[in-house]
Amino acid sequence: MAPIDAVPKGYDTEAKCLEIVKYPHPALRRDNAEVTVFDDKLRQFADNLFTTLYTCDNGIGLAAPQVGVNIRMMVYNPLRSREDENREGDEVWINPRIVGRSDDLDTKSEECLSFPKIKGDVTRPWWVEVEAVDLEGKPFGRRIEGMEARLFQHEFDHVQGVVFIDHISDDRRKVVQPRLDYLQEVYLRNGGKKPSL
Ligand code: ZN
Repeated sequence: MAPIDAVPKGYDTEAKCLEIVKYPHPALRRDNAEVTVFDDKLRQFADNLFTTLYTCDNGIGLAAPQVGVNIRMMVYNPLRSREDENREGDEVWINPRIVGRSDDLDTKSEECLSFPKIKGDVTRPWWVEVEAVDLEGKPFGRRIEGMEARLFQHEFDHVQGVVFIDHISDDRRKVVQPRLDYLQEVYLRNGGKKPSL
């Protein structure tokens, strides 16, 4: 097995599931590089992110740093649930930016594949105006709202090196701290050398 802190081999050249890194893996806190090359490797990586979400794990959104690849890229599908395997909502966001946000805020419970069995309320703008480029490097943008806006902001945080526990209340943090401590123990036991809390 590759060292736990290493970038996964073949993530952009083979069709495969990728291992989702868990707290406190340092990839969750590293700077993420702008994507400048739009080639078959990038498309393979986007496919692999969806395969990881749908085949090996079960989630609706994933950002590149969550599989140990520190670039500004994220995918999600707001139409998908465990029961509904709808691929029509598959969205790839590369070099995403938030260029506007609502004053209206919305608070809901969030969870994250990098923080198994942890939940916490997070307050976020109800809508965001966003820009990004697609897999061909072509710019696009739109306003998104509600549940999709929450999903976008959660994944966008990952691209910024921010994770949802950074937003939870101090009281909630105290409740989930034992679980975070346990995840850190697991990381160290598996040979992790650079925990980033
Ligand atoms: Zn997450």
